[in-house]
Amino acid sequence: MDGDRRDSDGRAATTGHGVVIVGGGPTGLMLAGELALAGVDVAIVERRASQDLAGSRAGGLHSRTIEILDQPGIADRFLSQGQVAQVAGFAGTRLDISDFPTRHNYGLGLWQNHIERILAGWVAELAVTFHRGREVTGIAQDDTGVDVALADGQSLRADYLVGCDGGRSLVRKAAGIEFPGWDPTMSALIAEVEMADQPTLGIRNDAIGTHGFGKREYEIRDGEVVYKDGGRYG
Ligand SMILES: Cc1cc2nc3c(=O)[nH]c(=O)nc-3n(C[C@H](O)[C@H](O)[C@H](O)COP(=O)(O)OP(=O)(O)OC[C@H]3O[C@@H](n4cnc5c(N)ncnc54)[C@H](O)[C@@H]3O)c2cc1C
Repeated sequence: MDGDRRDSDGRAATTGHGVVIVGGGPTGLMLAGELALAGVDVAIVERRASQDLAGSRAGGLHSRTIEILDQPGIADRFLSQGQVAQVAGFAGTRLDISDFPTRHNYGLGLWQNHIERILAGWVAELAVTFHRGREVTGIAQDDTGVDVALADGQSLRADYLVGCDGGRSLVRKAAGIEFPGWDPTMSALIAEVEMADQPTLGIRNDAIGTHGFGKREYEIRDGEVVYKDGGRYG
């Protein structure tokens, strides 16, 4: 199929793929790995120059996610770097799933920086082309595939395109797919701050709402703040 890949003007595309995935976050990385294992010619286009994240984001994995990661045999890569714990809950009530019929009857505490780093390491072992530091600016679909325009003026050609480019997905909007729902009725703010004193840690519900402090573990190395969850300062 590679030799037949042509752009919308009928020119043979030099950089064609079976599937182009826009976005190399957790979703795009996982899909790329699964497609590569299935023998599909797949490429990721990611605008971030590296896998680093500026903030903490997600703090771990639930049991079902660990089961999914077990299928291609990579669950241990995550388990060996995180902290196993009973983390399931509903409406503030903790649920102990240690008697559930699964090999992974627990959750895992592991920051998203590490989750993405481990996934990217797995993808790098597979036949996945990774276009890093490149941003998709538009897509055009025709009868035989999709042209993918990049910010640097170049383009890719794909039989199929998948948008894994986050909540404000350019691919979703360009494909005319709506994101229906209701206007938000509440908002949340997350801040990573330095404090002079140790605050009381944990979640509170009181007159000003639901709020709390959690701790990011860090150490000073060569005068630099290095977070143990792998995040960067600033
Ligand atoms: C501040 C914050 C806190 C969060 N806290 C939690 C939490 O506590 N628990 C939890 O479970 N989840 C949390 N999340 C959500 C979690 O981070 C997301 O669910 C997860 O990152 C979604 O993964 P994804 O791969 O679908 O999308 P993303 O992680 O958004 O990845 C999309 C990727 O696409 C790339 N991209 C976007 N547009 C383009 C383009 N045009 N061209 C090329 N590349 C592009 C982006 O650079 C990005 O790497 C938090 C998110 C944020 C922002």
